[in-house]
Amino acid sequence: MSTDILHFIDGAETAGTGERRQDVYNPATGQVSGSLHLGGQEDLNAVVAAAKAAGEKWGDYSLAKRSAVLFSFRELVNAHADELAAIITAEHGKVLSDAKGEVKRGLEVVEFACGLFESLKGEYSDQVSTGIDVFSFRQPLGVVAGITPFNFPVMVPLWMSPVAIATGNAFILKPSERDPSASGLLAKLWKQAGLPDGVFNVLHGDKEMVDGLLTHPDVDGISFVGSTPIAKHVYETGTQHGKRVQALGGAKNHAVVMPDADMSMAAEHLNAAAFGSAGQRCMAISVAVAVGEAADEIVSRVKDLAAGIKVADGTEPDADMGPVITPASKERIERIVGEAQQDGAAVVLDGRDLVVKDHEDGFFVGPTILDKVQRTMSAYEEEIFGPVLVVVRAESLEEAIEIINANPYGNGTAVFTSNGAVARTFQRKVNVGMIGINVPLPVPVAWHSFGGWKNSLFGDLHMYGPDGVRFYTRGKVVTQRWPEPTHVSGASFAMPSSS
Ligand code: NAD
Repeated sequence: MSTDILHFIDGAETAGTGERRQDVYNPATGQVSGSLHLGGQEDLNAVVAAAKAAGEKWGDYSLAKRSAVLFSFRELVNAHADELAAIITAEHGKVLSDAKGEVKRGLEVVEFACGLFESLKGEYSDQVSTGIDVFSFRQPLGVVAGITPFNFPVMVPLWMSPVAIATGNAFILKPSERDPSASGLLAKLWKQAGLPDGVFNVLHGDKEMVDGLLTHPDVDGISFVGSTPIAKHVYETGTQHGKRVQALGGAKNHAVVMPDADMSMAAEHLNAAAFGSAGQRCMAISVAVAVGEAADEIVSRVKDLAAGIKVADGTEPDADMGPVITPASKERIERIVGEAQQDGAAVVLDGRDLVVKDHEDGFFVGPTILDKVQRTMSAYEEEIFGPVLVVVRAESLEEAIEIINANPYGNGTAVFTSNGAVARTFQRKVNVGMIGINVPLPVPVAWHSFGGWKNSLFGDLHMYGPDGVRFYTRGKVVTQRWPEPTHVSGASFAMPSSS
């Protein structure tokens, strides 16, 4: 059975006026589960007009009223966490426990946004000149759009929208067209929480709709998360059209395993970080840099663990790993593994041609480990975004750091070591935005911001946390004088200076 997936504009579901539709799949069965309405130009104009009108009023709501909505929304997301997780698993394929974890990490940002009073506090300088005070405060941008990827259909919209809304903006979510349904439930929860109509909207579409948002004169800011080529396009087009843009791109996250590491811990964490969510996480460890004598042991330990991973429909209670998102993604992953093999990499564990019983049409790829990979191979150069761990070998910490710094991406990285000096050198010398010390998925908590370096982020400000507040607001500085009735005017044609 296929359901119609609708936009949510100005407080109500609508099929819109766009004529195109796109099928949505359950990747575990390969069956079509939904028919997505892709918006047209009229829908774009309608959503932006609704957001603009609603945002002007919402930005004038008191902080107390805004935060009351945020607190209610937090309760509602919590109460519907299982329902949201089920929708994620049905369209994305990740296992239910992972989907629940995604909702929980999104909730953290809602909780951060509940306390935005603190972040919006201004600054005040008394008596900067005789009888003159200066203060600064921040105001919302207006209408902001969030364009999100398929791999976190709840968490990434929640990285953006609670902070944008709490700071007084109206928000238009353009979710991934591959797993769009969770955004509809989020919209209903915002409405139920008391958010005025038009402040949170969902507009479905593909490239056409993204380009429409990037060039619309009444959209003031764009938050994007997705692959690097699209992030670059979004950043360049959005800024050319006068918008503030933060565009987070792809990744190739390296984990260095030093010979002094706790090998058992390193292997367990590498296994989970490489194959969790079938490797479809922007913070997944996709490259292990094995230093010196750590190499043979870590490869053998991860292989033993990965061979025991249960690959199944994500709704099965004991499943560790689900399918990948599309047949095209499966084909691409298998092609890259084949190329690495041809080019001389060792296929230590081969997940190609995996068939899951009763799910023969599902888009499954099993855990795969490629050892002795050279940096010129496509398996190293490309973001595979699947359950493939690439192992490169290095002689020293310095070489490992040189490998990481030569890579064009800079999202996350980790080191496994029991030596504090090694960890300190690593954290200071790698050109990467998020670093884990014996922590392979260093996704920052909500009150620190999330963002990579190099080709993993275009723009200046990271997402959520203090940078999120800065991104969704503009600063104003007021210089004021309230003269006493007896004041004698000291106006002068010279540039004003303190006295
Ligand atoms: P994607 O770039 O294909 O799509 C992201 C969004 O861009 C979607 O909403 C999509 O509709 C839109 N889009 C796609 N093609 C477009 C085009 N030609 N022009 C304009 N818009 C277009 O990414 P994806 O496959 O959905 O997600 C996976 C990618 O996202 C990976 O590269 C992953 O590393 C990255 N990602 C990065 C982070 C991060 O924090 N840096 C987080 C999650 C995912």
